[in-house]
Amino acid sequence: MEKNKILVIDDSPVQAEFLCSVLQDDYQVTVCHTTQEGEEAAKSGKYSLILLDVVMPEIDGFTLLQKLKSTKLTEHIPVILLTSLSDIQYEERGLLLGAVDYVAKPVSPVIIKARVNTHIQLYQYQMRFKEQALIDELTGVANRRRYEGESLSKWQEAIRFSLPFSVCMMDIDKFKLYNDTFGHPAGDQVIASVAQTVSSHFRRATDLFARYGGEEFVAVFVGNKGQSAFRFLQTIRQAVEELHIPHNSPVSPWVTISVGGVSLVPNAGESYDTYLKLADTMLYDAKRFGRNQVVWYDEDKNQLREK
Ligand code: GH3
Ligand code: MG
Ligand code: MG
Repeated sequence: MEKNKILVIDDSPVQAEFLCSVLQDDYQVTVCHTTQEGEEAAKSGKYSLILLDVVMPEIDGFTLLQKLKSTKLTEHIPVILLTSLSDIQYEERGLLLGAVDYVAKPVSPVIIKARVNTHIQLYQYQMRFKEQALIDELTGVANRRRYEGESLSKWQEAIRFSLPFSVCMMDIDKFKLYNDTFGHPAGDQVIASVAQTVSSHFRRATDLFARYGGEEFVAVFVGNKGQSAFRFLQTIRQAVEELHIPHNSPVSPWVTISVGGVSLVPNAGESYDTYLKLADTMLYDAKRFGRNQVVWYDEDKNQLREK
């Protein structure tokens, strides 16, 4: 297993070297000797903990702590303050500014190790908990909460960079009938298989595919014009059909999905919800036209249909 990364920000080479020697068996330690360097390094997002010296030339540790805690990229990283100022009011100040702990110099190897271990462990629990809160338990794909949290910023990014933006709704066909025929647990299996298959097609870092609820899914992606998005979703729809999961539906001998979506370059002032509704209308049409098909709305206001 890869070691957790710790950032030591301390102007004293001797002190930094000492911390490294104590911690390097269990952690990957990086040292910065100035607050400026330390601030930059912290923003890389790879550190699970920061050990920060309070007394440094130029910018002191308290000021840097305040900066780290008010910056989105770094606010979640636990910071332990190190100082020879054993005065209680410094300790108070550090903790009030958001440090998780405070260790007085000279630092005992045993104490610093123990405290670092504790805070790294807490940090890991916290990260795992955060991650899990955004994952749908049944399918392992993003859940509705993650979708709600990320879709709007993707939309705003598309506006800012004038990128084609697509939003897509999918729904398993005649799924009530599936449950009625094969039972709810088997239905759950189908939802998971469909989610896995669809998810495997959304490979770009900017793609977002999520379980919207029940047997419905949503996808948001950038960079494709209508025609290309339409063809992409056809491939996905076919991939689901080709899982050949038996279904006794009037649509197909297999489990199938209907897909509706829209691709447009959004303009400032337009609302995301309008696009989502448009995608939903396309899905409704896909159902109306006979299911197991993709219906798309493109930038030229054409409705693209498979069948
Ligand atoms: P349509 O082709 O029009 O989409 O028909 P449908 O039967 O799929 O549509 P409807 O929305 O009426 O029914 C969806 C069904 O999906 C209802 C419910 O029993 C089932 N369902 C929703 N969530 C779950 C789930 O988590 N597990 C299982 N097994 N079934 C679910
Ligand atoms: Mg439904
Ligand atoms: Mg359905």
